[in-house]
Amino acid sequence: MKDYDSYLSDTAKQIQPSGIRKFFDLAASMKGVISLGVGEPDFVTPWSAREATIASLEAGFTSYTANPGLLELRQEIASYLNSRFSVTYNPEDQIIVTVGASQALDLAFRALLNEGDEVLIVEPAFVSYSALVTIAGGTPVPLATSAENGFKVTAAQIEEAITDKTKAILLCSPNNPTGTYLNKDDLREISEVIINHDLITISDEIYAELTYDERYTSIASIDGMYERTILINGFSKGFAMTGWRLGFVTAPTEFAKVMLKIHQYTTMCAPHMLQHGAIEALRDLDNVEIMKNSYRRRRNYFVQSLNNIGLDCHTPGGSFYVFPSVRKTGLTSEQFAEQLLKQEKVAVVPGSAFGESGEGFVRCSYATSLEQLQEAIKRMARFIASLEK
Ligand code: PMP
Repeated sequence: MKDYDSYLSDTAKQIQPSGIRKFFDLAASMKGVISLGVGEPDFVTPWSAREATIASLEAGFTSYTANPGLLELRQEIASYLNSRFSVTYNPEDQIIVTVGASQALDLAFRALLNEGDEVLIVEPAFVSYSALVTIAGGTPVPLATSAENGFKVTAAQIEEAITDKTKAILLCSPNNPTGTYLNKDDLREISEVIINHDLITISDEIYAELTYDERYTSIASIDGMYERTILINGFSKGFAMTGWRLGFVTAPTEFAKVMLKIHQYTTMCAPHMLQHGAIEALRDLDNVEIMKNSYRRRRNYFVQSLNNIGLDCHTPGGSFYVFPSVRKTGLTSEQFAEQLLKQEKVAVVPGSAFGESGEGFVRCSYATSLEQLQEAIKRMARFIASLEK
């Protein structure tokens, strides 16, 4: 037998393991660590959704569902998107229930991309995008944003990056890792370039429910964008359902049809009993509001405290991340994260894990208790003081 490497696909070998994992593994091996590293809610899923899933199991709903998911769930998603974000999708042929937003992203890229097609990715970005584009045969093209501009991508920047190979742009608002929210004016400006160049937008709206200062605007609701948007959303973040692995993708029928074909062969359908829980989750938006208010309070405390101890950061409009600058310390983001973990047992993620433009920053998740955040600030202040000695 030849060596294993020679059997593996060149594409698979090309993909780098996530830079986040390394810190989780290190943090997991230590005692007394405050983790600001993980990207998930600290709430358990509200009881209504759990109860509906238990009832569904008791009722014996253990078969496959229709490929795009239970019609009742798709109907619920359609009315949710309509009432919350003013976008209209037909449950019959425009909505697919997926295994997390992750699978929805994978479907979108696979459905769109031919070898060499370029996808613009606004960075710093969620680690999966460029890997998924590569797996689908496309070429990820990073669009670097900066703290000076609140990590917002500009129309001019997009314009400049477009080539004759550019097919799509990936937008994520509110953003992971920066928390940046693109409001209606930002989206209008960006949309003009997207429409002029006839691009498709893949809009990752997984943090839409966690928008703190304004009512959320979906890019699909901007004039001329609906027909060129594949909208990604799901239950993981706003609904505190990461472990359920449930998301959804909505799109113009012609795109949805092709994504469904891929979904049918790769996944068949999302888990049946969990879909019953998701229906209840969508009917119980009061709980989402309660969780959101709690994150807002923690955001306000944490952003102010970080700035107070000398880690400059803007106030992010959404998600549950803050992305402070560590440049003043003279350390790289990786050195900062590693030394902070070893010295003070606080886990954060180096910004470089989210693309080159993330260097000089670290991602801190405030989806942990206020007491833990207070203790983390104390430890971080001590760490910074130790560097100044
Ligand atoms: N998009 C973004 C921006 C994310 O942060 C995450 C999860 N960290 C996902 C998608 C994937 O979400 P899911 O758990 O629904 O697969």
